[in-house]
Amino acid sequence: MDVVRKEPHHGWIEVITGSMFSGKSEELIRRLRRAQIARQKVQIFKPPVDDRFSEDHIVSHSDMRIPSQTVKNSDELLENVGDETEVVGIDEGQFFDANLPAACNRLADRGKRVIVAGLDQDYLGRPFEPMPQLLAIAEYITKTLAICVVCGDPANHTQRLVASSDRVLVGATGLYEARCRHCFDPELAGAEKV
Ligand code: ADP
Ligand code: ZN
Repeated sequence: MDVVRKEPHHGWIEVITGSMFSGKSEELIRRLRRAQIARQKVQIFKPPVDDRFSEDHIVSHSDMRIPSQTVKNSDELLENVGDETEVVGIDEGQFFDANLPAACNRLADRGKRVIVAGLDQDYLGRPFEPMPQLLAIAEYITKTLAICVVCGDPANHTQRLVASSDRVLVGATGLYEARCRHCFDPELAGAEKV
């Protein structure tokens, strides 16, 4: 009996995750630029909380940039993705709501290549929702590492340099630095000694 194959579908989810300064935005921009060079229809989104450098661009710490659209939540993101769009890029995934994984699933099911960059841990080293849920459903995961500014080892942590219990405290140089597991010190960020 002949095997009846379904038409291939093209949708899937890629996640780029790691600490601050690990090159997530650079890698996201690199992938999106390559898609644009290949004349694929690309749409790029970010949440409003990250307006440190620009409201209408994704900007890396090394000043690579690409135009983006700001959406306030994952529902608004879904509403803004056009039918002809082939690639959807999303930066700062950790600042989206809990529906982001479901929204990415919907887009991938509609045949879109969805690429999400975001922090995997917060300033205390706790998994940063909704990134863990997104990692669970993604087809491809890239973990990026920075360089520990204290010892030079691969850095998996974002060290907050000021004491604050706010999970979201937006800023970069002077507020945060990359550190390895040995040099990471949550107490410096105001965590209770355990
Ligand atoms: P992320 O999106 O993960 O925060 P970016 O892509 O915005 O990272 O920035 C990565 C760039 O940050 C590097 O190419 C480098 O120029 C710069 N950088 C600053 N501090 C560090 C560090 N400790 N380790 C690695 N890169 C760093
Ligand atoms: Zn270190």
